[in-house]
Amino acid sequence: MTRGALIDGVALAKKVRERVAADVAGLKARGLTPGLTVVLVGDDPASAVYVRSKGKASEEVGIHSDTIKLPASTTQDELLTLIDRLNADRSVHGILVQMPLPKQIDPDTVIRRIDPAKDVDGFHPVNVGLVLTGSTEGYAPCTPAGVMEMLREYGVDTRGANVVVIGRSNIVGKPMASLLVQPGVDATVTVCHSRTRDLAEHTRRADVIVAAVGRANIVTADMVREGAVVIDVGMNRVPDAAAPRGYRLVGDVDFDGVKDVASLITPVPGGVGPMTIAMLLQNTARAAARALG
Ligand code: NAP
Repeated sequence: MTRGALIDGVALAKKVRERVAADVAGLKARGLTPGLTVVLVGDDPASAVYVRSKGKASEEVGIHSDTIKLPASTTQDELLTLIDRLNADRSVHGILVQMPLPKQIDPDTVIRRIDPAKDVDGFHPVNVGLVLTGSTEGYAPCTPAGVMEMLREYGVDTRGANVVVIGRSNIVGKPMASLLVQPGVDATVTVCHSRTRDLAEHTRRADVIVAAVGRANIVTADMVREGAVVIDVGMNRVPDAAAPRGYRLVGDVDFDGVKDVASLITPVPGGVGPMTIAMLLQNTARAAARALG
């Protein structure tokens, strides 16, 4: 069996974006331009980079993108008022509030204020519930949705497979488990977290590992079964004097070691990251199509 074949997130994301661009062209032919509004509060440099790349990717597929930048001193009420306005704006089909928010604003209150039909991040409890109950009416969060697309496209058979998800955040780990357990996908899912007693005991039994922790090298070769599929969601900056910015980006998986054991593996960068943005565009196009009826 071949080892260490790459799951090419860049190529796959391009394919998804082309599909979305075709859908957007169809909507435009029917007189509707999908619109995504991204709200950025404060001046976190990493958030600014994410927001710029989301805006650029939207425009490339024909989605109209607006970024609203608010100062770090914005109050929760001011942000909620803006969300109310965007909820009522018929030219806005997707609303995304970039996290993290300044400490005076409660993220859950903000997420709950977004109209679930415009919640293209898939974080609103209505969408969380729809995804969990297996309804296709909800929006699945973009990162786990991107991982599902990867598994499908690369022909990974999840039926009856042992899938170990490491991480239980509301953004990645929990919705990942929720998608994998659905009938049709049929994985047997184990969710691990910081209180898991023996992580390696679980990962060694896994046919598929999805690592979403935020810690470099948490998955090493000795923790991976021969031939397993390894999906690395993690994005960690490690100091690197030779890199232009003084750091480089790595995942949660010791890529060099694990690639010799895994059958398929995602690189970082170039794996899950590009898929996340592609799925955001797909959710926005879907939201617009629904608005058209
Ligand atoms: P998070 O909210 O910090 O969650 C991390 C999870 O990892 C938590 O559930 C935590 O457990 C668990 N964990 C921490 N240490 C552990 C350990 N030693 N063993 C097992 N589990 C452990 O992070 P997140 O938002 O889910 O993101 C996870 C990573 O994915 C980050 O690197 C983030 O940058 C990256 N990410 C990438 C994309 C992308 O597009 N590629 C998108 C989103 C996130 P507890 O719950 O017990 O604390």
